[in-house]
Order: sequence, then structure tokens, then C-alpha cells
Amino acid sequence: MEKKQFQAESKRLLEMMINSIYTQREIFLRELISNASDAIDKIYYKALTDDNLVFEKDSYYIKVNADKANRTLTLRDTGIGMTKEELENNLGVIAKSGSLAFKKENESKDGHDIIGQFGVGFYSAFMVADVVTVVSKALGSDTAYKWESTGADGYTIEPAEKDSVGTEITLQIKDNTEDDNYDEFLEEYRLRSIIKKYSDFIRYPIKMDVSGSRPKEGSEGEFEEYREEQLVNSMVPIWRKNKSELTAEDYENFYQEKHYGFDKPIKHIHISADGAVVYQAILYIPGSTPFDYYTKEFEKGLELYANGVLIMDKCSDLLPDYFSFVKGMVDSESLSLNISREMLQHDRQLKLIAKNIESKIKGQLQSLLKDEREKYEQFYGAFGRQLKFGVYSDYGTHKDVLQDLLLFHSSKEKKLVSLDEYVSRMPEDQKYIYYASGPSNERIEKLPQTELVAEKGFEILYFTDDIDEFAIKMITKYKDKEFRSVSSGDLGIEPEESADKDESAKEADKELFEHMKSLLGDKVTGVRASKRLRSHPVCLSTEGEVTIEMEKILNAMPN
Ligand code: ADP
Ligand code: MG
Repeated sequence: MEKKQFQAESKRLLEMMINSIYTQREIFLRELISNASDAIDKIYYKALTDDNLVFEKDSYYIKVNADKANRTLTLRDTGIGMTKEELENNLGVIAKSGSLAFKKENESKDGHDIIGQFGVGFYSAFMVADVVTVVSKALGSDTAYKWESTGADGYTIEPAEKDSVGTEITLQIKDNTEDDNYDEFLEEYRLRSIIKKYSDFIRYPIKMDVSGSRPKEGSEGEFEEYREEQLVNSMVPIWRKNKSELTAEDYENFYQEKHYGFDKPIKHIHISADGAVVYQAILYIPGSTPFDYYTKEFEKGLELYANGVLIMDKCSDLLPDYFSFVKGMVDSESLSLNISREMLQHDRQLKLIAKNIESKIKGQLQSLLKDEREKYEQFYGAFGRQLKFGVYSDYGTHKDVLQDLLLFHSSKEKKLVSLDEYVSRMPEDQKYIYYASGPSNERIEKLPQTELVAEKGFEILYFTDDIDEFAIKMITKYKDKEFRSVSSGDLGIEPEESADKDESAKEADKELFEHMKSLLGDKVTGVRASKRLRSHPVCLSTEGEVTIEMEKILNAMPN
């Protein structure tokens, strides 16, 4: 029997996990149960698409057993099992370096349930156990294998005895120390309540042998000891439940259980559609930006179930790019189970669902903006940029969906303002929606170009994001008002001055301007007198569509 080493990365991660995620260690049970449920899902799915396999509902379950005397906790499932290779690959390689790097960056921020983030749920077992033993027999395989590990220093693997297909995981629960007591993970009532709390909606029965005493039937005052198998979970998936039966905590638990994120979602959307297409969905607007959100690595998508069976982890066709931050799941009876990825893309039902979901998300964001401004601004801080990319992308074809969701800082109250709010408080004599671009609000406030507009008392939107001006160019007009940069040549508010004074000034300055132009050469198109300046002697202004800020960005772009 040979002993194999965990990869170096894995070792560090394991130590980090075991040592740092302390208060939440009960979630190890949720992790192991959800793995067992996934394994049953897989065999169920196989049976539905393979005529040689029959899925008999009653023979699929998860069984939890505590043995106080031996300090062991056992989880048995009748799922798809693991081959020798799968044991090595799935349990022997832990996390990718990207996640580890993330954890390092975020070491100071505590209170997050990070385990889910890594998708390393299995290893959470080491928070409560010294030794973890996995005996598994894969579907279609004759031999079972035993995988065993004491944590960071590797694992062993060898052939083992097991009659039926599935997996049995035994945890040798840690001994108590001065600071830590692990007995609770051997107590039936405690295990029951952990399962209820996190895994109530698991769709397969989670059973436990429970002992206790109860009044003896037919006799007064006498009690009898019993030990019997009990069903612990209610088994109705959360998305099939009535909204009125569910609490905010239920939705939050589901978010954690599903590993949609390590944060607290801002909002959940529970949909039960009964129209042209029948489906249920639970969607979330996350509370913070995933660390890889604005990178190529980020993969959008929702979990897709066909009548309760998971058929895809990340169905990207269900979400438009500009709502790619949304997490969650969709279950539909209208979808065929053995549909392939390629077919799915063209599936009419799926397209209908996607359209429907898009409008629900939009509606939710709009009402958040209207009724829960603070939450909306939290959302906008995390994902507003994506909305602006959305306006800009595909030649502005989505601007109608998105323009009402945009917010910008403004000169008025130094707060975020929507375009609707801006336009509705425009004075009658204001022709344009004014904006100024710059690296920060403070820098924009100091721009000489803002002076004239500010003096007129007109509000100015502050564009501090690279994408802002590009997005606005796609919108061009909001409620019939055109956008105008404060550095544009024509602001529509140049003051009128007496003509003759103007003319003579021009004559006198002509020579000076020509000299300045010859000094500046190609750097400027021309030098002329401006009527818009107040306290500053000079400013740059532009002609045509591309402003100075846009030019800077275009010049900085790789060719
Ligand atoms: P994740 O569930 O996020 O993939 P885990 O660390 O929880 O990560 O599990 C790793 C992998 O081990 C799973 O993806 C699955 O392939 C396998 N696995 C874990 N537990 C079981 C089980 N009870 N039955 C079959 N496969 C399992
Ligand atoms: Mg898992």
C-alpha cells in the first residue's frame, strides 16, 4: 500500500481551513450531505437517460449514524460512487491557486463562510475529524476502494469490501481538548438540528437512527427505550415551496448551501411561473463583487434543473451578459432531461425562460432603486460597471433595458443620481444633460470647463469610470435631452456680449493666438478666446464627438 502526498497547495489550504474556520465547523455536515445528494442526483440522471438502469426511489437515501462509544460519525449514500481514479482525483486534489490567492488578499476580512467559495467542501470534515475514511463503489464497477487520510499529510488508497454501489464516509471525531469540545457531533439531537438547519430541502431522504425513551403503550407511567430509523429532512426543494412558508434566513441558507457566494446576498427573487412556460427559479443579487468578476475567468450562468434533476451547473444562456452577476437556479418541467448542451442553446422553452428571467431581474432592480435606495447603491457599487458595459456593448441595443438603472455622481448634492432624477429637476432653460469626465470627483470639481455650467446653476454628472462616456455616447439622448460634455465647443449657454467690444478684442488678440498656435503646433487645432471661463485663464475644449477623456482612453488601449 503506497502513501501519496497531497500537492503543496492543497496542504496549505487544508491547514488554513482547519485552523481558521472555527465558529462555523458544523457546516461540515452540510458539505458531506450535499455531496451525497449530488451523487444520488448523478445516478438518478443516469437512470433517466439510460434504459438499462432503473431508479427505484425508495432505494436512494442518505443515512447518518453516530457511534458515541467509538467516537465515529458515518454518512452512507446510495449515490453513484467513486472509482479508484475518482477517489484520487476528486479527493486528492484540493483547490486551485486562484482561490488561495484570493484568500490571502482577503485575510483580514473575517466572518465569511469561505469553504463553499473554494468548492472544497469535502475537506471541511477535517475540522471535526482526525481521520476520514471513504469506502466507495462506483456504478458499473466490481471493486470497491478505501481512501483514508489524517489530513494534511496525505492519504492512502486500497481495495476494500462493499456490497452495494455508493459511498460510506466515516469520521473519527476529534477528542476534546481544553478549549474545544467535539461531543456535539456525536449527539443525535444536535446532528438532527444541524441537518434540519442546512439540509432540510435536500430532495432525498436523510435518515438517522435515533434512540430515546417514550411512554409505553397501554400502561400508565411506564416508559420504554427505543431505537428507530427516522426521516430528518422535509425533502421539498425550497424552490417548490410557497413563498409565504419561507423566511429570509431560508433563502440565505440556500445561497450558502449552494455555494453561490461567500457574501450575504442583497436580494432574492423567487419565481413560480405558470404561463407559456412553467418553471421555478430562485435568483440572487449578490452583495459584493466576486474576486474574479471583471476577469476572463468569470463564468456566468444559473444552475439548470429539469423537473428536479440537475442537468447543468452553469447554464450561460439563461443570463444576458449585463446581468451576469446574478446567481441561482432554474427548474423547469418543460425541459427534456436528455437534452444536450448544443440542443439547449436553441431550445425554445429555454429562450422563453431566459426572456422571462431577464425582465424579472430588471423589475427587481428597478424596485430596489425606487424603494430601497441604500441597497441599490450597494448593488450599484458592486456591479454598476457591468450595467454600463451592457449599455455600450452590442452597439447599444440593450440601452432601453439598462439606462434607467444607471447612477452617476453629480455636482448637485454630491450624491448618486439617476438620469431620470437629473432630467426631472432640470430648469426649463437648460437644454442639455451636462457631464464632465475625470479621474475622480475632486479632480472634476476643479476643472475650469465646469465653471460656466456651474455658474448657471446647472447640474453636472461626474464621469469617473472609463466606460461612462462610451456608454453615454450609445444612449445619446435621455427623455429627449442630449448629453453634452462640459468641454464641448458648444454648451448652448455661451453668454451674449456686445458685438463691437467682442470684435475689437478679437482683432487685438489675433496675433497673440497665432503665436500661441505656432508654439503648440499639432497639439491643438486652434487657439481662441473663450467666453466660458471664470476664474481660470485657459481651458481645453473639443470639437466633434470624441472628448479629451475618451481620447486618453482610446490612446491607452492596446492596438
Ligand atoms: P465540490 O462538491 O464542490 O465538487 P467537494 O470537495 O465537496 O467539492 O467534493 C469533491 C468531489 O468529490 C465532488 O465533486 C465529487 O466528485 C466527489 N465526491 C465527494 N463526495 C462524494 C460522494 N459521497 N459520492 C460521490 N462522489 C463524491
Ligand atoms: Mg461539495
